[in-house]
Amino acid sequence: AFFLPSSAAPAKDYVKYKDPKQPINERVDDLLSRMTLEEKIGQMSQIERANATEEVIEKYFVGSVLSGGGSVPAEKATASVWQKMVTKMQKAALKTRLGIPIIYGIDAVHGNNNVYNATIFPHNVGLGATRDPTLVKRIGEATAHEARATGIPYTFAPCVAVCRDPRWGRCYESYSEDTRLVQLMTSSIVTGLQGDVPAKHPKGVPFVGGSKKVAGCAKHFVGDGGTHKGINENNTLLNFHDLMRIHMPPYDNAVIKGISTIMISYSSWNGVKMHQNKFLITDTLKSKMNFRVSRLCDHRLAGRGPAHDPRHMHYYHSIQETIHAGIDMVMIPYDYPEFVADLVKQVKQGQIKLERVNDAVSRILRVKFTMGLFEDPLPDPRLTKELGAQDHRSLAREAVRKSLVLLKNGKSKGEKPLLPLPKKAKKKVLVAGSHAHDLGSQCGGWTASWQGESGNNLTGVGTTILEAIKKAVDKHTAVEYAERPDKDNLTKSADEYEYAVVAVGEPPYAETAGDNQNLTIPSPGPEVIKDVCGVVKCVVLIVSGRPLVVHPYVDYMDALVAAWLPGTEGQGVADVLFGDHGFTGKLPRTWFKSVDQLPMNYGDKRYEPLFPFGFGLTTKAAAGKD
Ligand code: BGC
Repeated sequence: AFFLPSSAAPAKDYVKYKDPKQPINERVDDLLSRMTLEEKIGQMSQIERANATEEVIEKYFVGSVLSGGGSVPAEKATASVWQKMVTKMQKAALKTRLGIPIIYGIDAVHGNNNVYNATIFPHNVGLGATRDPTLVKRIGEATAHEARATGIPYTFAPCVAVCRDPRWGRCYESYSEDTRLVQLMTSSIVTGLQGDVPAKHPKGVPFVGGSKKVAGCAKHFVGDGGTHKGINENNTLLNFHDLMRIHMPPYDNAVIKGISTIMISYSSWNGVKMHQNKFLITDTLKSKMNFRVSRLCDHRLAGRGPAHDPRHMHYYHSIQETIHAGIDMVMIPYDYPEFVADLVKQVKQGQIKLERVNDAVSRILRVKFTMGLFEDPLPDPRLTKELGAQDHRSLAREAVRKSLVLLKNGKSKGEKPLLPLPKKAKKKVLVAGSHAHDLGSQCGGWTASWQGESGNNLTGVGTTILEAIKKAVDKHTAVEYAERPDKDNLTKSADEYEYAVVAVGEPPYAETAGDNQNLTIPSPGPEVIKDVCGVVKCVVLIVSGRPLVVHPYVDYMDALVAAWLPGTEGQGVADVLFGDHGFTGKLPRTWFKSVDQLPMNYGDKRYEPLFPFGFGLTTKAAAGKD
């Protein structure tokens, strides 16, 4: 028998940072001590997929790659095509001197919405309406699996914005206007995406529980949902106390649950760009939250402009400020790879402190070690089958039916409610409206492409509201569909219909493109409502990312349902319309009467909504279903 003396010198080729038995802090320190300045700056850059060739990854030691805005490549790539792409990039990174893996990030914000045939869950506003944190946790888990199916270990989610003004084009990415509801959902989604933090996990230390989980990113820090008139990328005018009271608390929940990264907002607070706000990014986060996770910066730094533009100089100056303010990784550095040379120069000349660079890189490496990227850098082909898996689709369907909010049921008091609708109708059923048979509009922005796309082409597998109704009704019940029924014909033939389902709403949009100061139902929605509901008993579904002005059309409706942006599983809509399940959703936002009232939020002194926060009628489920 023999034993090794405990003082045995480590093997010659022993590399500490590669040893998974070593504590993460020591691995980080060891690796950092071996890195050149160029390698460090490489870690601090996150570049767009299109620029991330194998040569670039190797030459510039790229730390991270992203597919911004959710993007199905033209050829409608499958999970394994995505995996192959990530593998190629990862292999290039592993070939570098120190073999530091890249971390590939994507906006998987309502499922892995970047991929053809993925399961698309309701956008966050709908999840807020469910009031069901366990459901949201399960959605996080399913989303993590669908992201891993494509070889992606990192998502820019959740958006923990507290949207205070529905005129904002990103309102649907917010769970609620109510801070506490956003907090509740934040804890759940982070846990679902990243896994359950162990008991006594130190606050502020990132956590990712294994290779089927993903690293998350709480965004956009802080006050993104509070900009003036809901204008995107704009100014949030609030005193510090209210900023902390309304917009900060969800970050606390995310940090407690071990969030891996935080994205700094491209908006401003009281006139100062968040990217430049050291007080908030470093001092406040650190002191309030014992914060050690990585901070990412949303692109569009102040002063971005072409090289000949004087703003260009300003851009590099703003990067300097940004890094000193506490940003660790820069998303889509403008003018890449000049960015690398410039940053190296700035550090060498002492304009950017090396200390700060070391701190930033340590944070990034810590996340990579925590996630097990060094041990498991490559996509797992066994996971491709997770994309669009049946149990995810059932979960999404459940989420849809729990997210729908019934706002009106019966024209006047004492009148028999229209819902639930009979599956067996004596006469025909009419289905109408721009959103009745349109999967793209059902999903909204951040689906298949950044802005989303209406129509039934890009999303892949899914069920429209019309298709769901057809599946739900009795086989002898005839369903007739007209996107915009002819008014004269309809008036003549109104008697042929037992009831109508009208689905209208917003077209897909994302970010600034969705800013809207009117919030009216887009035309011809109001005309369709008037024409149909004027002559046939009707339920109107508003498919939208936020409340819209329904006055005065609401008087024509027998029933009104807020359907939000339900995603691919339209059968969830039919589940509640026909009473297989009851309506249980509650408004996550105030439904205003007119835009002059905005901003108007629950708790305001002057609060005269059409339907208040928390409102939602219920119906009974068919026996045994709920
Ligand atoms: C958005 C972020 C997003 C990023 C990457 C930015 O424009 O503000 O929410 O994560 O793009 O797509």
